[in-house]
Amino acid sequence: MTAFAWTRTAGDGPARAGLLHTAHGDVPTPTFMPVGTAATVKAMTADAVRATGAGIVLGNTYHLMLRPGAERVAALGGLHRFMDWPGPILTDSGGFQIMSLGKLRKLDAEGVTFRSHLDGTEYRLTPERSIEIQYNLDSTITMVLDECTAFPATYEVAESSMALSMRWAARSRAAFQPRDGYALFGIVQGSIFPDLRIKSCAALAAIGFDGYAIGGLAVGEGQVEMFAMLDVTVPHLPGDRPRYLMGVGTPDDLLGGVMRGVDMFDCVMPTRAGRTGRAFTSRGILNMRNARHAVDNGPIDPACVCPACTKHGRAYLHHLFRCDEMLGPILLTWHNLSYYQALMRGMRVAILEGRLHAYADAVRAGWKDGKEALLF
Ligand SMILES: [Zn+2]
Repeated sequence: MTAFAWTRTAGDGPARAGLLHTAHGDVPTPTFMPVGTAATVKAMTADAVRATGAGIVLGNTYHLMLRPGAERVAALGGLHRFMDWPGPILTDSGGFQIMSLGKLRKLDAEGVTFRSHLDGTEYRLTPERSIEIQYNLDSTITMVLDECTAFPATYEVAESSMALSMRWAARSRAAFQPRDGYALFGIVQGSIFPDLRIKSCAALAAIGFDGYAIGGLAVGEGQVEMFAMLDVTVPHLPGDRPRYLMGVGTPDDLLGGVMRGVDMFDCVMPTRAGRTGRAFTSRGILNMRNARHAVDNGPIDPACVCPACTKHGRAYLHHLFRCDEMLGPILLTWHNLSYYQALMRGMRVAILEGRLHAYADAVRAGWKDGKEALLF
Protein backbone atom coordinates (compact mmCIF):
# COMPACT_ATOMS: atom_id res chain seq x y z
CA MET A 1 0.00 0.00 0.00
CA THR A 2 1.10 3.53 -0.65
CA ALA A 3 1.10 6.27 1.93
CA PHE A 4 -1.22 9.18 1.17
CA ALA A 5 0.85 12.03 -0.25
CA TRP A 6 0.83 14.92 -2.65
CA THR A 7 3.99 15.45 -4.68
CA ARG A 8 4.76 18.63 -6.55
CA THR A 9 5.68 18.18 -10.22
CA ALA A 10 6.03 21.79 -11.33
CA GLY A 11 5.08 25.33 -10.36
CA ASP A 12 4.20 28.55 -12.18
CA GLY A 13 4.04 31.41 -9.67
CA PRO A 14 1.78 30.27 -6.81
CA ALA A 15 0.14 27.67 -9.11
CA ARG A 16 1.24 24.06 -8.77
CA ALA A 17 0.96 20.87 -10.81
CA GLY A 18 1.30 17.69 -8.81
CA LEU A 19 0.17 14.15 -8.15
CA LEU A 20 -2.13 12.93 -5.40
CA HIS A 21 -1.16 9.41 -4.24
CA THR A 22 -3.99 7.49 -2.56
CA ALA A 23 -5.03 3.94 -1.63
CA HIS A 24 -7.38 4.05 -4.61
CA GLY A 25 -4.97 5.36 -7.22
CA ASP A 26 -3.14 8.51 -8.25
CA VAL A 27 -4.79 11.75 -9.42
CA PRO A 28 -2.98 14.53 -11.30
CA THR A 29 -3.63 17.99 -9.86
CA PRO A 30 -5.03 20.56 -10.23
CA THR A 31 -8.20 18.49 -10.33
CA PHE A 32 -11.96 19.05 -10.37
CA MET A 33 -14.13 16.55 -8.44
CA PRO A 34 -17.64 15.95 -9.84
CA VAL A 35 -20.23 15.85 -7.05
CA GLY A 36 -21.81 12.43 -6.52
CA THR A 37 -24.29 13.48 -3.84
CA ALA A 38 -26.23 10.26 -3.22
CA ALA A 39 -23.57 7.80 -4.47
CA THR A 40 -24.20 8.90 -8.04
CA VAL A 41 -23.09 11.82 -10.18
CA LYS A 42 -26.60 12.75 -11.29
CA ALA A 43 -27.54 11.53 -14.80
CA MET A 44 -24.19 9.78 -15.30
CA THR A 45 -23.02 6.16 -15.12
CA ALA A 46 -19.64 5.72 -13.42
CA ASP A 47 -18.17 4.76 -16.81
CA ALA A 48 -19.44 8.03 -18.26
CA VAL A 49 -17.88 10.01 -15.39
CA ARG A 50 -14.56 8.23 -16.03
CA ALA A 51 -14.85 9.01 -19.76
CA THR A 52 -14.94 12.74 -18.98
CA GLY A 53 -11.46 12.39 -17.46
CA ALA A 54 -12.45 12.71 -13.79
CA GLY A 55 -9.99 11.03 -11.41
CA ILE A 56 -11.76 11.56 -8.07
CA VAL A 57 -15.39 12.15 -7.11
CA LEU A 58 -17.15 13.57 -4.06
CA GLY A 59 -19.87 11.96 -1.95
CA ASN A 60 -22.15 13.73 0.56
CA THR A 61 -22.19 12.39 4.12
CA TYR A 62 -25.49 14.08 4.97
CA HIS A 63 -27.41 12.44 2.13
CA LEU A 64 -25.73 9.03 2.52
CA MET A 65 -26.24 8.89 6.31
CA LEU A 66 -29.99 9.38 5.75
CA ARG A 67 -30.26 7.05 2.75
CA PRO A 68 -29.16 4.27 2.59
CA GLY A 69 -27.19 4.78 5.85
CA ALA A 70 -23.42 4.49 6.28
CA GLU A 71 -23.61 1.13 8.07
CA ARG A 72 -25.60 -0.31 5.19
CA VAL A 73 -23.07 1.00 2.65
CA ALA A 74 -20.32 -0.66 4.74
CA ALA A 75 -22.21 -3.97 4.78
CA LEU A 76 -22.56 -3.76 1.00
CA GLY A 77 -18.79 -3.44 0.57
CA GLY A 78 -18.23 0.32 0.84
CA LEU A 79 -18.99 3.30 -1.35
CA HIS A 80 -16.42 2.42 -4.05
CA ARG A 81 -18.11 -0.89 -4.80
CA PHE A 82 -21.63 0.44 -4.20
CA MET A 83 -21.30 3.15 -6.89
CA ASP A 84 -18.74 1.39 -9.16
CA TRP A 85 -16.03 3.95 -8.46
CA PRO A 86 -12.83 2.10 -7.51
CA GLY A 87 -10.88 5.37 -7.71
CA PRO A 88 -10.48 7.88 -4.88
CA ILE A 89 -13.60 9.33 -3.24
CA LEU A 90 -13.69 12.41 -1.01
CA THR A 91 -16.63 12.76 1.35
CA ASP A 92 -17.69 15.98 3.02
CA SER A 93 -18.45 15.92 6.75
CA GLY A 94 -22.18 16.60 6.48
CA GLY A 95 -21.73 19.97 8.17
CA PHE A 96 -22.44 22.17 5.19
CA GLN A 97 -25.81 20.59 4.34
CA ILE A 98 -26.86 20.48 7.98
CA MET A 99 -26.03 24.16 8.52
CA SER A 100 -28.25 24.88 5.50
CA LEU A 101 -31.24 23.21 7.18
CA GLY A 102 -32.05 26.41 9.10
CA LYS A 103 -34.78 25.79 11.69
CA LEU A 104 -34.39 22.02 11.36
CA ARG A 105 -31.05 22.05 13.19
CA LYS A 106 -29.65 23.05 16.57
CA LEU A 107 -25.96 23.67 17.12
CA ASP A 108 -24.20 23.25 20.47
CA ALA A 109 -20.58 23.02 21.57
CA GLU A 110 -20.51 19.24 21.17
CA GLY A 111 -22.20 18.84 17.81
CA VAL A 112 -25.40 19.44 15.90
CA THR A 113 -28.85 17.91 16.25
CA PHE A 114 -31.05 18.03 13.18
CA ARG A 115 -34.16 16.67 11.61
CA SER A 116 -34.01 14.88 8.27
CA HIS A 117 -35.49 16.93 5.43
CA LEU A 118 -37.01 13.64 4.21
CA ASP A 119 -39.15 12.44 7.13
CA GLY A 120 -38.35 14.64 10.15
CA THR A 121 -36.40 11.91 11.99
CA GLU A 122 -33.98 13.41 14.51
CA TYR A 123 -30.25 12.78 14.07
CA ARG A 124 -27.16 13.82 15.98
CA LEU A 125 -23.85 14.59 14.29
CA THR A 126 -20.66 15.15 16.28
CA PRO A 127 -17.09 15.33 14.98
CA GLU A 128 -16.61 11.72 16.11
CA ARG A 129 -19.82 10.48 14.47
CA SER A 130 -19.00 12.25 11.19
CA ILE A 131 -15.57 10.56 11.11
CA GLU A 132 -17.20 7.20 11.89
CA ILE A 133 -19.73 7.62 9.06
CA GLN A 134 -16.99 8.50 6.58
CA TYR A 135 -15.00 5.46 7.81
CA ASN A 136 -18.02 3.24 7.17
CA LEU A 137 -18.41 4.72 3.70
CA ASP A 138 -14.70 3.84 3.10
CA SER A 139 -13.97 7.40 2.04
CA THR A 140 -10.44 7.90 0.67
CA ILE A 141 -10.36 11.51 1.87
CA THR A 142 -12.33 12.29 5.02
CA MET A 143 -13.23 15.87 5.91
CA VAL A 144 -13.39 17.19 9.49
CA LEU A 145 -16.77 18.36 10.79
CA ASP A 146 -16.83 22.15 10.81
CA GLU A 147 -19.30 24.99 11.00
CA CYS A 148 -19.51 26.77 7.66
CA THR A 149 -19.85 30.35 8.94
CA ALA A 150 -22.88 32.07 7.46
CA PHE A 151 -22.24 35.12 5.29
CA PRO A 152 -22.26 37.93 6.14
CA ALA A 153 -21.06 37.51 9.73
CA THR A 154 -19.79 40.05 12.25
CA TYR A 155 -16.18 39.69 13.36
CA GLU A 156 -17.28 38.33 16.75
CA VAL A 157 -19.56 35.70 15.22
CA ALA A 158 -16.92 34.67 12.67
CA GLU A 159 -14.29 34.42 15.42
CA SER A 160 -16.32 32.18 17.74
CA SER A 161 -17.53 30.08 14.79
CA MET A 162 -13.94 29.58 13.60
CA ALA A 163 -12.81 28.70 17.13
CA LEU A 164 -15.58 26.08 17.36
CA SER A 165 -14.49 24.61 14.02
CA MET A 166 -10.88 24.39 15.25
CA ARG A 167 -11.97 22.51 18.41
CA TRP A 168 -13.99 20.15 16.25
CA ALA A 169 -10.98 19.76 13.90
CA ALA A 170 -8.85 18.53 16.83
CA ARG A 171 -11.60 16.09 17.89
CA SER A 172 -11.95 14.88 14.28
CA ARG A 173 -8.19 14.27 14.11
CA ALA A 174 -8.31 12.24 17.36
CA ALA A 175 -11.24 10.14 16.09
CA PHE A 176 -9.73 9.42 12.67
CA GLN A 177 -8.15 5.98 12.22
CA PRO A 178 -5.05 6.36 10.02
CA ARG A 179 -4.78 3.81 7.20
CA ASP A 180 -2.29 3.60 4.35
CA GLY A 181 -3.36 5.78 1.45
CA TYR A 182 -6.28 7.37 3.33
CA ALA A 183 -6.37 11.01 4.38
CA LEU A 184 -8.02 13.48 6.73
CA PHE A 185 -8.29 17.11 5.63
CA GLY A 186 -8.73 20.10 7.95
CA ILE A 187 -10.88 23.09 6.90
CA VAL A 188 -9.88 26.75 7.21
CA GLN A 189 -12.69 29.08 8.31
CA GLY A 190 -12.72 32.76 9.30
CA SER A 191 -15.24 34.35 6.91
CA ILE A 192 -13.70 37.39 5.15
CA PHE A 193 -11.43 38.44 8.03
CA PRO A 194 -7.75 38.00 7.10
CA ASP A 195 -6.47 37.63 10.68
CA LEU A 196 -9.07 34.95 11.46
CA ARG A 197 -8.14 33.04 8.29
CA ILE A 198 -4.46 33.18 9.27
CA LYS A 199 -5.23 32.06 12.85
CA SER A 200 -7.28 29.18 11.46
CA CYS A 201 -4.37 28.08 9.20
CA ALA A 202 -2.01 28.07 12.19
CA ALA A 203 -4.46 26.12 14.38
CA LEU A 204 -4.94 23.45 11.71
CA ALA A 205 -1.20 23.18 10.94
CA ALA A 206 -0.53 22.68 14.67
CA ILE A 207 -2.99 19.75 14.73
CA GLY A 208 -1.51 18.38 11.49
CA PHE A 209 -3.58 17.17 8.51
CA ASP A 210 -2.91 15.29 5.28
CA GLY A 211 -4.45 18.13 3.29
CA TYR A 212 -6.04 21.52 3.88
CA ALA A 213 -9.38 22.76 2.62
CA ILE A 214 -10.53 26.35 2.43
CA GLY A 215 -14.17 26.49 3.50
CA GLY A 216 -16.76 29.19 4.03
CA LEU A 217 -16.20 30.79 0.62
CA ALA A 218 -18.49 30.98 -2.43
CA VAL A 219 -21.31 31.68 0.05
CA GLY A 220 -22.27 35.11 -1.30
CA GLU A 221 -19.12 37.18 -0.77
CA GLY A 222 -18.42 37.46 -4.52
CA GLN A 223 -15.40 36.53 -6.59
CA VAL A 224 -13.26 39.57 -5.71
CA GLU A 225 -13.56 38.86 -1.96
CA MET A 226 -13.07 35.13 -2.50
CA PHE A 227 -9.84 35.68 -4.43
CA ALA A 228 -8.67 38.17 -1.78
CA MET A 229 -9.21 35.50 0.90
CA LEU A 230 -7.23 32.96 -1.16
CA ASP A 231 -4.39 35.47 -1.45
CA VAL A 232 -4.43 35.82 2.34
CA THR A 233 -4.89 32.14 3.20
CA VAL A 234 -2.83 30.06 0.77
CA PRO A 235 0.63 31.38 1.83
CA HIS A 236 -0.13 30.20 5.39
CA LEU A 237 -0.90 26.60 4.40
CA PRO A 238 1.84 23.92 4.44
CA GLY A 239 3.42 23.87 0.96
CA ASP A 240 3.80 20.09 0.79
CA ARG A 241 0.11 19.25 1.31
CA PRO A 242 -2.82 19.43 -1.14
CA ARG A 243 -5.15 22.46 -0.97
CA TYR A 244 -8.85 22.14 -1.66
CA LEU A 245 -11.24 25.05 -2.28
CA MET A 246 -14.66 23.74 -1.26
CA GLY A 247 -17.77 24.22 -3.39
CA VAL A 248 -16.10 26.25 -6.15
CA GLY A 249 -17.04 27.14 -8.82
CA THR A 250 -17.46 28.74 -12.26
CA PRO A 251 -14.76 28.05 -14.88
CA ASP A 252 -13.40 31.54 -14.17
CA ASP A 253 -13.26 30.75 -10.42
CA LEU A 254 -11.23 27.63 -11.25
CA LEU A 255 -8.74 29.67 -13.29
CA GLY A 256 -8.34 32.19 -10.47
CA GLY A 257 -8.13 29.47 -7.80
CA VAL A 258 -5.42 27.49 -9.58
CA MET A 259 -3.45 30.68 -10.25
CA ARG A 260 -3.51 31.29 -6.47
CA GLY A 261 -2.19 27.84 -5.57
CA VAL A 262 -5.33 25.68 -5.14
CA ASP A 263 -5.07 22.01 -6.20
CA MET A 264 -8.60 20.61 -5.78
CA PHE A 265 -12.14 21.84 -6.41
CA ASP A 266 -15.70 20.51 -6.31
CA CYS A 267 -18.98 22.08 -7.36
CA VAL A 268 -22.47 21.07 -8.45
CA MET A 269 -22.38 23.80 -11.11
CA PRO A 270 -21.50 21.71 -14.22
CA THR A 271 -23.94 18.91 -13.34
CA ARG A 272 -26.78 21.17 -12.18
CA ALA A 273 -26.40 23.47 -15.19
CA GLY A 274 -26.39 20.41 -17.47
CA ARG A 275 -29.75 19.31 -16.12
CA THR A 276 -31.30 22.72 -16.75
CA GLY A 277 -30.09 23.15 -20.33
CA ARG A 278 -27.03 25.32 -19.82
CA ALA A 279 -23.73 24.38 -21.51
CA PHE A 280 -20.30 25.63 -20.48
CA THR A 281 -18.19 26.08 -23.61
CA SER A 282 -14.93 27.59 -24.80
CA ARG A 283 -17.12 30.42 -26.22
CA GLY A 284 -19.11 31.11 -23.04
CA ILE A 285 -22.40 29.71 -21.72
CA LEU A 286 -25.18 28.51 -24.02
CA ASN A 287 -28.81 28.00 -23.08
CA MET A 288 -29.87 25.01 -25.17
CA ARG A 289 -33.56 25.89 -24.74
CA ASN A 290 -32.99 29.08 -26.72
CA ALA A 291 -34.82 29.06 -30.09
CA ARG A 292 -31.71 30.16 -31.98
CA HIS A 293 -30.33 26.60 -31.61
CA ALA A 294 -33.43 24.99 -33.20
CA VAL A 295 -31.99 24.64 -36.71
CA ASP A 296 -28.25 24.72 -35.87
CA ASN A 297 -26.50 21.46 -36.70
CA GLY A 298 -23.13 22.67 -35.38
CA PRO A 299 -21.70 21.16 -32.17
CA ILE A 300 -22.22 22.74 -28.72
CA ASP A 301 -18.45 23.27 -28.61
CA PRO A 302 -16.23 22.42 -31.61
CA ALA A 303 -13.28 22.12 -29.18
CA CYS A 304 -14.97 19.33 -27.16
CA VAL A 305 -14.65 15.56 -27.75
CA CYS A 306 -17.66 14.42 -25.63
CA PRO A 307 -20.55 12.44 -27.22
CA ALA A 308 -22.90 15.45 -27.09
CA CYS A 309 -20.45 17.41 -29.28
CA THR A 310 -19.10 14.68 -31.57
CA LYS A 311 -22.35 12.84 -32.31
CA HIS A 312 -25.01 15.57 -32.18
CA GLY A 313 -25.72 19.13 -33.20
CA ARG A 314 -27.14 21.96 -31.08
CA ALA A 315 -30.55 21.45 -32.71
CA TYR A 316 -30.80 17.92 -31.31
CA LEU A 317 -29.92 19.06 -27.78
CA HIS A 318 -32.45 21.91 -28.15
CA HIS A 319 -35.10 19.39 -29.24
CA LEU A 320 -34.37 17.05 -26.29
CA PHE A 321 -34.73 19.87 -23.76
CA ARG A 322 -37.88 21.22 -25.39
CA CYS A 323 -39.42 17.73 -25.12
CA ASP A 324 -38.11 17.14 -21.59
CA GLU A 325 -36.39 13.97 -22.78
CA MET A 326 -34.03 12.54 -20.16
CA LEU A 327 -31.23 12.19 -22.72
CA GLY A 328 -30.92 15.99 -22.77
CA PRO A 329 -29.69 16.29 -19.16
CA ILE A 330 -27.53 13.16 -19.63
CA LEU A 331 -25.73 14.51 -22.71
CA LEU A 332 -25.36 18.03 -21.36
CA THR A 333 -24.04 16.84 -17.97
CA TRP A 334 -21.52 14.71 -19.89
CA HIS A 335 -20.53 17.74 -21.92
CA ASN A 336 -20.21 20.12 -18.95
CA LEU A 337 -18.09 17.66 -16.96
CA SER A 338 -15.92 17.11 -20.06
CA TYR A 339 -15.49 20.87 -20.41
CA TYR A 340 -14.47 21.24 -16.74
CA GLN A 341 -11.98 18.35 -17.02
CA ALA A 342 -10.52 19.76 -20.25
CA LEU A 343 -10.08 23.12 -18.50
CA MET A 344 -8.23 21.46 -15.59
CA ARG A 345 -6.01 19.46 -17.99
CA GLY A 346 -5.28 22.64 -19.94
CA MET A 347 -4.23 24.44 -16.76
CA ARG A 348 -2.05 21.50 -15.65
CA VAL A 349 -0.22 21.40 -19.00
CA ALA A 350 0.17 25.18 -18.95
CA ILE A 351 1.72 25.03 -15.45
CA LEU A 352 4.14 22.30 -16.61
CA GLU A 353 5.12 24.55 -19.50
CA GLY A 354 5.29 27.73 -17.40
CA ARG A 355 2.59 29.60 -19.35
CA LEU A 356 -0.47 29.56 -17.08
CA HIS A 357 -1.14 33.29 -17.35
CA ALA A 358 -1.11 33.17 -21.16
CA TYR A 359 -3.39 30.12 -21.05
CA ALA A 360 -5.86 31.86 -18.71
CA ASP A 361 -5.86 34.98 -20.91
CA ALA A 362 -6.60 32.87 -24.00
CA VAL A 363 -9.44 30.98 -22.26
CA ARG A 364 -11.03 34.22 -21.01
CA ALA A 365 -10.68 35.80 -24.47
CA GLY A 366 -12.56 32.80 -25.93
CA TRP A 367 -15.49 33.32 -23.54
CA LYS A 368 -15.57 37.03 -24.41
CA ASP A 369 -15.30 36.54 -28.18
CA GLY A 370 -18.14 34.04 -28.09
CA LYS A 371 -20.46 36.87 -26.96
CA GLU A 372 -22.27 34.15 -25.05
CA ALA A 373 -20.54 34.57 -21.71
CA LEU A 374 -23.81 35.38 -19.99
CA LEU A 375 -23.05 34.21 -16.50
CA PHE A 376 -19.29 34.40 -15.90
ZN1 LIG B 1 -18.94 18.39 -25.39
